[in-house]
Amino acid sequence: MSADEKMIWDVGIIGAGASGLAAAVLCGREKLKTLLLEGEASAGAKILISGGGHCNITHREVTEKDYGSEAPRKVRHVLKAFSPEETAAFFESLGVPLVAGEGGKIFPSPSSGRAVVEAFLKEIRPLGVRIETKKKVGSVVFRAGLFLIKGRDFEYFSKTVVLCTGGLSYPSTGSDGTGYEIAKAFGHHLISLTPALTPFLTTDPDCKNLSGVTLSVCLSLWAGGKKASESRGDFLFTHSGFSGPVVLDISRHWIRRRTEGRAEVKADFLPRIKEADFRLQMIQACRKTPAKTLKKFLSVFLPERLAGMLLEKRGIDGNLILNQLGREAREAVLKALFHFPLPVNGASGYDKAEATAGGVDLDEVDSATLESKFQKGLFFAGEILDADGRIGGFNLQWAWAGANVASAGVLRRLRERETD
Ligand SMILES: Cc1cc2nc3c(=O)[nH]c(=O)nc-3n(C[C@H](O)[C@H](O)[C@H](O)COP(=O)(O)OP(=O)(O)OC[C@H]3O[C@@H](n4cnc5c(N)ncnc54)[C@H](O)[C@@H]3O)c2cc1C
Repeated sequence: MSADEKMIWDVGIIGAGASGLAAAVLCGREKLKTLLLEGEASAGAKILISGGGHCNITHREVTEKDYGSEAPRKVRHVLKAFSPEETAAFFESLGVPLVAGEGGKIFPSPSSGRAVVEAFLKEIRPLGVRIETKKKVGSVVFRAGLFLIKGRDFEYFSKTVVLCTGGLSYPSTGSDGTGYEIAKAFGHHLISLTPALTPFLTTDPDCKNLSGVTLSVCLSLWAGGKKASESRGDFLFTHSGFSGPVVLDISRHWIRRRTEGRAEVKADFLPRIKEADFRLQMIQACRKTPAKTLKKFLSVFLPERLAGMLLEKRGIDGNLILNQLGREAREAVLKALFHFPLPVNGASGYDKAEATAGGVDLDEVDSATLESKFQKGLFFAGEILDADGRIGGFNLQWAWAGANVASAGVLRRLRERETD
């Protein structure tokens, strides 16, 4: 048994991803005897690939509406405890200033996930935090007032534990769901798990042929005849289906609705124009430029290949001149442009998902501390909990906020232990 294994740690943090690294810094700064265990050979693998390597670290404005969860009020409680401004101050304290990007996104400067991970590691070492890699935790049990954290060839004792093991997304970064099993062993229930922020798949050859075409769209999800959700943003046709932020954002809703029954995604390819206004424009164009082909008229608004495909699907000849366009054909064109049923046949799995929807039920943790309601001293932070954000820095903000709330909870619990 090594000296570390004989020691009783104040806090054992399991998982050195976004939330685990932040929690380690915060606990280290409080001079807690902090042990950070990581199953992989190095820390922060997911931070490195976040935002395509640029690490979209948070967002200018963050509310519970930016997240999917069964417990939105609990999400709000956690987010309120640690704002994006506090995130900025935290990273400033690590020597990583934040800068605004487009659409409210916030990035580190330099905009690199590596700079973020290096800043964490640089801060952690002098604080005396013990970071151990290649230590995959298999179980955690509470015995005689202490947590016993066990892996294949190690065991550690600690007074408190923070589970920061992430979800199931991108398992190549080390998050393989073992944390859920540890939570379940303490009696926790999971809100059903599905991939989130993942591309759609199609078998439609016409759509696949458009691979590489990008544009801004509005996608709406329809279930049981009602619009269940809507998302706007950049859209990309790929060789296997559809991607881009707007697709990733709506994917969690589609996947979850699909398990309940039929769910359909409709695309509005002209989200900046109202359908009624476009109808009027078409009627005027028919009068003013009757010899113009439909194809030519649409080319001002849409990529030509896309317009061609949409017309073909509706059986409308793009070479028709506007003069020949009757009311019925005009309405069919409008339907194709504004209410196109996207032929989604599936969604990519966890290997391509940027987040996991579902997780440890937030109603089973104290939202003021993220401590388990079933086991004193056991805390959670990050993706393991039932909250998944949309594209824009919301998932990392959830990780930073959770780490902050849980670390403060750990400190409080340890103080209470001392006075017991
Ligand atoms: C490709 C991609 C791009 C993304 N881009 C962004 C972005 O730009 N902005 C944004 O806000 N979010 C982004 N995200 C999401 C964001 O990275 C995650 O939400 C966030 O990293 C989750 O933090 P976490 O600490 O909960 O889990 P993770 O960062 O996944 O960390 C979990 C850690 O726990 C370790 N672990 C797991 N089980 C064990 C165990 N049993 N024992 C020991 N260690 C264990 C894992 O190896 C891992 O290191 C992206 C995700 C992906 C996949």
